[in-house]
Amino acid sequence: KARKRFGQNFLHDMGIIRRIVACIAPKEGQRVVEIGPGKGALTEGIISATKSMDVVELDRDLIPILKVNLFQYPQLRVHEADAMKFDFTQLANEGNIRVVGNLPYNISTPLIFHLLEQANVIDDMHFMLQKEVVDRLAARPGDSLYGRLSVMAQYFCLVESLFIVGPESFDPPPKVDSAIVRMTPYSELPVVAKDLKGLEDTVRIGFQQRRKTLRNNYKGLLTVEELEAIHIDPTLRPERLDVPDFVRIANYLHDKKEL
Ligand code: SAM
Repeated sequence: KARKRFGQNFLHDMGIIRRIVACIAPKEGQRVVEIGPGKGALTEGIISATKSMDVVELDRDLIPILKVNLFQYPQLRVHEADAMKFDFTQLANEGNIRVVGNLPYNISTPLIFHLLEQANVIDDMHFMLQKEVVDRLAARPGDSLYGRLSVMAQYFCLVESLFIVGPESFDPPPKVDSAIVRMTPYSELPVVAKDLKGLEDTVRIGFQQRRKTLRNNYKGLLTVEELEAIHIDPTLRPERLDVPDFVRIANYLHDKKEL
């Protein structure tokens, strides 16, 4: 029986499973890490190509089921752990890893932030998420869902929304539509924040009140003249700024030792 607190909705639609695996296109020898394999719906399609694989699953009752379902693959390494606390860099000692998962929706945003911190060892990520979260990740300046998650994800990664999956593909069906997203960390960041924590703070403060202008949100930290000096229009709302704009503000505050 599926456990609600673990965000369990198991994929059963073979057509969708094949489509996701085709997007991932796993190849022999690649190091793929799956978060929340459950009973192995996606796992089998991947490990049959890569031959070996690591999976991180929190629900210990699912692990025997997973092992039985994938008994033909002795090279499956199962980590009984919380992905939110898991150190993915330990799996990347001989080259980068690829990360995949039909994520538990209740923790998907903090989990993505946790993974972005380890983006330097990740070649790409493919996730099934609530469609709204995918829309947030991929949103562009001016879109209604553009916000903190969009800016931080796009600071590290190229984000591509791939396709939508309806509730009927899962057991039990979730209440909302889902979607597949591909996130590819840049091997060299297009713009570099001098301090990551400072960028996170800058973005959080900038979006504190979405409907207010930047001059309001940054009041006490930056004057109108300072914003203008770094080519930011203080009368705009935060949703108008792109990643390089936020990085410019963060670096200015860093140099001023404000953040
Ligand atoms: N991949 C399977 C599928 O597609 O059928 C299961 C997907 S289900 C949406 C989410 C999976 O993540 C479950 O197996 C659940 O037990 C597991 N899970 C929940 N929280 C987790 C956590 N913090 N760390 C690792 N796995 C977790």
